[in-house]
Amino acid sequence: MKICPKCGRENPNDAEYCIYCGAKLEPTEKDFEWVKLLTAQNQFEADVVINLLESNGIHTMTKRPNAGVTGYYMLANPLMGSTGAWDIFVMRVDLPKAIELLKAEEESNGTNEDDDERGEGLPPKE
Ligand SMILES: [Zn+2]
Repeated sequence: MKICPKCGRENPNDAEYCIYCGAKLEPTEKDFEWVKLLTAQNQFEADVVINLLESNGIHTMTKRPNAGVTGYYMLANPLMGSTGAWDIFVMRVDLPKAIELLKAEEESNGTNEDDDERGEGLPPKE
């Protein structure tokens, strides 16, 4: 019996990855380093990505890019947090799953044509 180092549940001895959370069962320290997934352009975009990842069991960490002092997302002043970019980090071990989720999300948005903020359909200006 192997105990998952990430979620703590029991896995069969021959399992290489946790059957519950997908973590490598004999991970190195490097697997639990934060790696940057992407830069969200604003808090709204960051919220969408964080909600998607967290609802799929992926932990996220967010901070201001190039901030002299690390501005952790959850502790951020809401007045400061609503605009400006955020770097979103996930643990290295979760990176492949996170990228897969974002791809799937992008594809499902691609079939959704109710994005009316682009001004398509407006008559051309002369
Ligand atoms: Zn696990």
